[in-house]
Amino acid sequence: MRTKKGIPVSPGIAIARAFVVDAADQPIPRRSVPESAVPGEVARLEHALASSCEAIEREREVVEQRVGKEVAGIFNWHLGMLRDKTLRERFEKMIREEKVTAEYGVFSVMRQYARDLREIGEARWRERDTDIWDLEKRVLGQLIGETRQELEHLDHEAILVAYDLTPSQTAALDKTKIKGIATDAGGRTSHTAILAHALGIPAVVGLGNITSQVSTGAMMILDGQHGAAIIKPHAEHLMEYRQRLERIEAFELRLGESAKLPAVTRDGTEIVIGANIEFPGEIAMALEKGATEIGLYRTEFLFLASPTAPTEDEQFEAYREAIRALDGRMLTIRTLDLGADKVVGFIAPGRPEANPFLGCRSIRLCLQNLPLFETQLRAILRASVEGPVRIMFPLISNVMELRQAKMILSEVRDDLSESGTPFREDIQVGIMIEVPSAALQARTLAREVDFFSIGTNDLIQYTLAVDRANVRIANLYTAAHPAIYMLVRDVVRAANRHKIDVSLCGEMAGEPEFTLLLLGLGLRKMSMTPPAIPEIKRIISKVTIDKCRRVARKVGTFDSDREIINYLREETSRILPEVYDGRSVAS
Ligand code: PEP
Ligand code: MG
Repeated sequence: MRTKKGIPVSPGIAIARAFVVDAADQPIPRRSVPESAVPGEVARLEHALASSCEAIEREREVVEQRVGKEVAGIFNWHLGMLRDKTLRERFEKMIREEKVTAEYGVFSVMRQYARDLREIGEARWRERDTDIWDLEKRVLGQLIGETRQELEHLDHEAILVAYDLTPSQTAALDKTKIKGIATDAGGRTSHTAILAHALGIPAVVGLGNITSQVSTGAMMILDGQHGAAIIKPHAEHLMEYRQRLERIEAFELRLGESAKLPAVTRDGTEIVIGANIEFPGEIAMALEKGATEIGLYRTEFLFLASPTAPTEDEQFEAYREAIRALDGRMLTIRTLDLGADKVVGFIAPGRPEANPFLGCRSIRLCLQNLPLFETQLRAILRASVEGPVRIMFPLISNVMELRQAKMILSEVRDDLSESGTPFREDIQVGIMIEVPSAALQARTLAREVDFFSIGTNDLIQYTLAVDRANVRIANLYTAAHPAIYMLVRDVVRAANRHKIDVSLCGEMAGEPEFTLLLLGLGLRKMSMTPPAIPEIKRIISKVTIDKCRRVARKVGTFDSDREIINYLREETSRILPEVYDGRSVAS
């Protein structure tokens, strides 16, 4: 048995066998397999080598036809390598004698091969370096690609173990089979973490080297509450966690009742609780959990889940489906927030960027790809006649950017009017406040929009200079930092002064220890991942606004995030022992 600690990002407990997927762009970890699995690994290797040879032959044919035999000759060297008996024997020997995965067999032998050639010292051999690297990637791509296909068609429950997952890989997971996610990398508010939470899959990220510690088929317990992964647990641990799982299910059932309650404080202040969604299909669950509107629809996920850019009609269909599912409740559609960690091959920001989170992402990408932006705005406006909709621009960092986005929206409206296409004339336009410059300039921006939504996930990373997905500095990423308190406070004040609507849709909205503070800072609207709603509603029903204001004032006197988080936890558990009891019963 071995226990590994990581960052808990989606609560719940999963007990199942591991399914490990390697990453082609990372060093392959050395992972042992049981003796009985060795022939299977050798067969996988042979299959991957054969498929790679077939692929090379196909490419050779195409190149031969287009540019002639001479250039195509380069492929012969590759084919020769992969068919070389000695090399194949080295792969197989590695797998059989060291009892490792086929991926590691290929990776380690190819790396050693490259080192051997380099040591010969002759230039013509050194030049072969990139060819070897190319071949290694090709064979690994085959092996990993087949494992991913297997993952898509799993016929049993499993805990997915990977280096990291992209948001689109996470979105494509079959929730009925994948009971937990454990990754080497990742941070608290990475989009993968957010999605896992939204899908209700327990997840622990930042486990360091879990992919080298566990093999496919090994029994595992994943504790999404405390951020632990237990590999090959003893029988008593399995029993203990099964009991814990039962208690969590009972607790959730009780909490489920608060989902139906209105979100009203003890002294009668109504709080609007919205849900954050990535796909229209999540709306039913959001309403079931007690949301009264959708405060954030991350429309880029339609792009992330598609091999080509969705057409205007496809986007229109998705928005109309969402509006209809909401049956008269408000839908806040955020325009495309692509780029940084949400990349699609068909809309590249140009050359790879050194700092993608500070680069051409989000509204910036849209303003540099006007047809993309205009198509989305047309689709939103066309769908807007179906029910209440608002448009929200992400990552606004200066006034000119907002004015430009509004100007394009107004041009799209003019086009629609000219062509006699109906749309909602009084559609509200708002922005996300998720860049410190926007938060500091909130008074100015408030004059130009109908609403603000504070995106603390990005606001924290940009204010504290901490990458939200980087595990090495995850301890520095916190919503309890005094600077975040100041920015949220001032944005709410600016919105109130200009009498515009303000909400908060970062993950912080769904974290119970911040509810008192956010209410005390004047927020009356929050949008969060659907599973968090019942607990937050329960907290709201137990507090008075007066008490929350006192808590917020006290938080303003602290200098460090440690003091703030300790104080907030203490206050929350004092006011709501039963909520925290529930959590501790669960733990
Ligand atoms: C945010 O940044 O807080 C936010 C809600 O947007 P996202 O998590 O999609 O970046
Ligand atoms: Mg954001």
